[in-house]
Amino acid sequence: MSEALRGPVLAANWKMYKGPGATRVFLDRFVALYPAHSDRSVVFFPSAISIPAFVADRSGREDLEVGIQDVHTEVEGACTGAVSAAMAAEAEIGWGLAGHSERRRDFGDHDATVGIKLSRLLEAGLRPILCVGETLEERRGGLLEEVLSRQVETALDVLESSGCGPWNDKVLAYEPVWAIGTGETATPGDAAEAHGLIREVLSRRAGDEPAATAKILYGGSVKPGNIEALLGADGVDGVLVGGASLDPDSFARICLAGSGR
Ligand code: PEP
Repeated sequence: MSEALRGPVLAANWKMYKGPGATRVFLDRFVALYPAHSDRSVVFFPSAISIPAFVADRSGREDLEVGIQDVHTEVEGACTGAVSAAMAAEAEIGWGLAGHSERRRDFGDHDATVGIKLSRLLEAGLRPILCVGETLEERRGGLLEEVLSRQVETALDVLESSGCGPWNDKVLAYEPVWAIGTGETATPGDAAEAHGLIREVLSRRAGDEPAATAKILYGGSVKPGNIEALLGADGVDGVLVGGASLDPDSFARICLAGSGR
């Protein structure tokens, strides 16, 4: 894992979009629009099959970091179609997502499974982003705090019992499920409230300092039009962007937020 992070983290989750060819086309334009900035981190999570194209075509721009969208709970084995954190590390991938809501919803990743994936990423030396967030029903049912606590606490419990070592420089993403890919965005106030709740859990479990220095990203229909307001919200240390990260112009505008350009 590289050194401590400075400034906001601006992350692009490309989901199952952009094969190697479309990755190259994106990078050609993006590198022209977004010059390297030392006061922020920009991380892309392409499809695993497009990561070699991403690395080869980022034109020496190592400030454009790369991560894996998901890893298996095992280090290796008879797991057709899967990729392990150890393999991602060997391929010099620096980051990994754990617990994205689409994995939880469509692939049966429960809280404990997410904890194992978090452990595997750390064990392999990758920097994980632990994703948490509530559904609309949970929010309407007044369960926001309970759901966020359960998701974070379970991941930390599994991590502790795995004995895989400390999780330094924590990065988490608060992604309300009702705001992902829907065009609905949490208000800066909603984000601040949820980030505060997550920080309380971290403070209880790890102490005030690690809770205060953890980076908590907001994800859910982030766009160039709302990035400034979201980054200005209390406790928001960056964003995880799906749809708007697929277009180089729009993601460059997001990455340049607050830079005066
Ligand atoms: C995501 O996939 O993590 C995400 C936040 O998607 P979108 O920005 O499209 O809501």
